[in-house]
Amino acid sequence: MTQTEVPIPERKRIALIAHDNRKGDLVAWARYNRGVLAHHDLYGTGTTGRVIAEELGLPVTRFKSGPLGGDQQVGALIAEGGLDFVIFFWDPLEPHPHDVDVKALLRIAVVYNVPIACNRSSADFMISSPLMDREYHRLVIDYGERIPGV
Ligand code: PGA
Repeated sequence: MTQTEVPIPERKRIALIAHDNRKGDLVAWARYNRGVLAHHDLYGTGTTGRVIAEELGLPVTRFKSGPLGGDQQVGALIAEGGLDFVIFFWDPLEPHPHDVDVKALLRIAVVYNVPIACNRSSADFMISSPLMDREYHRLVIDYGERIPGV
């Protein structure tokens, strides 16, 4: 099985997503880390992106709201190599209409070996990593080689 090195640039494209019960936690985390986040390009699902842009006063490229396909848009952009880093505070205590989209996004982030934090302590460890202001090469399994005939 071969693996391809994919660069995560110094200036990272960071997706921010939070379910409603977790938005307060994400906003508090983002406010605390505004200085670091300001050095990167921010993306977000509809409501999360709007709230983060308002709270931080930073530009955020917004997708659709999660239940309307925003999580799938984030996943698709990961597959296309357009995102480097994901902070996804999903709600472990409530069912959601788009639970399948949540699972798909978590899966695709793992497939492409994109760093993803799903709670605040993971996000703290990730954002305080010395790798935040360096280029990093993530290894991505060459899945094409594993499919006979492809
Ligand atoms: P929202 O979507 O940012 O539009 O609330 C997040 C989600 O539910 O996945």
